[in-house]
Amino acid sequence: MREEAGADLSGLTTLGMGGTCALALSLDSREDLPALEARRKELGLPCYVLAKGSNILAREGRHELVLVRPCFGDEPAIASAAAAGAAEGAWPEGTVFVSCGAGVALPRLLAFLRDAGLSGMEGLAGIPGSVGGAVAMNAGSFGCETGACLASVEVWNGEALVRIPRGDLEFGYRSFAVKGAQKPVLVVSATFALTLAPSRGIAERMQANLLAKKSRQPVSARSAGCVFKNPPEGPSAGILLDKAGFRGRARGGVALSEMHANFLVNRGGGRAEDAFALLGEAREAVLAKFGVALEFEVRVLPCRSF
Ligand SMILES: Cc1cc2nc3c(=O)[nH]c(=O)nc-3n(C[C@H](O)[C@H](O)[C@H](O)COP(=O)(O)OP(=O)(O)OC[C@H]3O[C@@H](n4cnc5c(N)ncnc54)[C@H](O)[C@@H]3O)c2cc1C
Repeated sequence: MREEAGADLSGLTTLGMGGTCALALSLDSREDLPALEARRKELGLPCYVLAKGSNILAREGRHELVLVRPCFGDEPAIASAAAAGAAEGAWPEGTVFVSCGAGVALPRLLAFLRDAGLSGMEGLAGIPGSVGGAVAMNAGSFGCETGACLASVEVWNGEALVRIPRGDLEFGYRSFAVKGAQKPVLVVSATFALTLAPSRGIAERMQANLLAKKSRQPVSARSAGCVFKNPPEGPSAGILLDKAGFRGRARGGVALSEMHANFLVNRGGGRAEDAFALLGEAREAVLAKFGVALEFEVRVLPCRSF
């Protein structure tokens, strides 16, 4: 386990903003998990899981918080149904299981699936972040959600590593939980269920999704993706923000993107206090104009998660 005192959130998040945390503990392998528990008890501080930081809006200042960084890098690999925790007959014949460490970049997993001719996750092309982050957020796009492809997850429950089959997991819009668990869990690895298909078609679908994103979203700007969730019905958060006059609206070094009003971007030297002020104004305007209370899709730090 690696330790870093005074971990700087501006260097650990794609938005590039936020203050410092007391400590970051990076876990490179399962063997680090017992040491993590011992260290957590010793420190007595709240802990938050931070992976690649692509869905995080962090406040400024010094936070008395320990960041737990799941770097478990087990490369994607074909797994047996038994290893996947799949009950016999639970998946259609021909299903192929692939397991992967939580710390692996999601694009790395998608490249493996493309090359291996395994279909089911093409809609996730263009989502940055880690495999564990995609599971924890139930990340999705183009009608494809991470949870829909999951066969099981391996989690650390504070005492032991346990494999949780899909039937004991709950997924919602950008949410994931283990049924009955009181707190969020630390995802160590995930096993996905896929179907065989020609690599070329998979590559074409991924490429089409990437191009569609590039044409509508500021993918190369510093952002955390969509900042607000889409309301359950009616126009998207981006359309509401646009109609309320917030497309391109700036404050200090931050702005709601000209290209997509639901993308908060750091244009350089952006500060979290400006981001929260701008987002507060935008929320109020949308509420006043359309009666819709927008909720954050990004996770706001500091917050206790684990
Ligand atoms: C340009 C851009 C485009 C994006 N497009 C999309 C999109 O189309 N769809 C979409 O859903 N998201 C999108 N996002 C948001 C983001 O990439 C996803 O939510 C991603 O899955 C987060 O992964 P991460 O590793 O960065 O997690 P982080 O941002 O580090 O963490 C996010 C949350 O997951 C938890 N977490 C992370 N890893 C673990 C773990 N191993 N165990 C337990 N909890 C964990 C954290 O505690 C936190 O609550 C986009 C972001 C950007 C910057």
